[in-house]
Amino acid sequence: MRADIVVLEGDGIGPEVTAAAVQVLQAVATRYRHQFQLHRHLIGGAAIDATGEPLPAATLQACQRADAVLLGAVGGPKWSDPKAKVRPEQGLLALRKGLGLYANLRPVQPHAATLGASPIKPHLLAGVDLIVVRELTGGIYFGDKQRSDTSASDLCEYSVAEIERVVRRACELARGRRSHVVSVDKANVLETSRLWREVASRVAREEFPDVTLEHQLVDSMAMHLIAKPRAFDVIVTENMFGDILTDEASMLAGSLGLLPSASLGEGKVGLYEPIHGSAPDIAGRGIANPCGTILSAALLLRHSLGLEAEAACIEQAVAAVLDAGVLTADLAPAGEAATTAEVTAAVQAQLDLPCHVAELRD
Ligand code: NAD
Repeated sequence: MRADIVVLEGDGIGPEVTAAAVQVLQAVATRYRHQFQLHRHLIGGAAIDATGEPLPAATLQACQRADAVLLGAVGGPKWSDPKAKVRPEQGLLALRKGLGLYANLRPVQPHAATLGASPIKPHLLAGVDLIVVRELTGGIYFGDKQRSDTSASDLCEYSVAEIERVVRRACELARGRRSHVVSVDKANVLETSRLWREVASRVAREEFPDVTLEHQLVDSMAMHLIAKPRAFDVIVTENMFGDILTDEASMLAGSLGLLPSASLGEGKVGLYEPIHGSAPDIAGRGIANPCGTILSAALLLRHSLGLEAEAACIEQAVAAVLDAGVLTADLAPAGEAATTAEVTAAVQAQLDLPCHVAELRD
């Protein structure tokens, strides 16, 4: 297969973790004889420095033409002046909007080797396998913003069509899993949540009679996610609730650095990025955990290129490396940490070994 992949390194640890994922993609390309054309473009603070814009037109156009986009992270103290006219995060929001990426998928599967790194008790974590589907282009993050000397407001708005398409995506995903969806809202207080609940119920009832849909208020969901994480299969929710719940869910896995994400729309192009930020506190030291970005590359192969065996191979390779105890500082016992490069080399070495899923296809 031949595919065009745009690589957006971004800021902070972005260049370090995307370099790791690119190394793994190149190893997959060699092993399976694919041709991945990589196109590097600017986004975030790096783009502001070079062009004055957080999302230069050339970057957006390249992403619109590509089969998939791999992103590191954006932002950092250099660009965080609240009075600044342009901010790195605007680049990311504009990219999601520009590509029509309304569904953000965040799988969470704590790995046996890293259960001890989670603040949650290991017996609650064993067997957890959930995926959060976060609405990505609507809600309060995109609503009208007002500011006066004495007050401020952010409008939260959702249309029926915006809710339908993301709930549909969650139900479709659930069909390939355990057919259970929990829709999260704040319907006891918010009008947008009451609409969300009505629409979610109708879509599930009319289009997915084989999928069980339950509703949960976001405040109690924050508790249940920690108290009984095994109870969840697919969780679907609006933009801000999803943002917060997925950072919470990352603690089930033990580190923000482990979790990948896929942002999908109606078109073929998807955006794949780790859920963490640019981690300026550890940037440039070669110690960032590359697994979230490497696993994002696996999601890229699965969702944008349809390369399921290759995706599963990367996931198996990462699992084997974690099993072997090759862990970066966010997960390793003191004094035993591997570097970003060492973890990446270990994943690459695993890819050279026979892969269970791939052998079925070879
Ligand atoms: P962060 O995710 O960057 O870091 C939070 C903590 O987790 C830090 O201690 C960091 O060192 C650690 N961490 C994160 N990723 C790690 C990894 N791969 N390996 C090891 N440790 C890791 O969140 P923050 O500190 O709140 O934000 C820093 C900057 O990132 C801000 O400018 C913020 O706006 C931006 N941000 C960007 C994105 C994105 O690009 N999608 C997402 C969140 C935050």
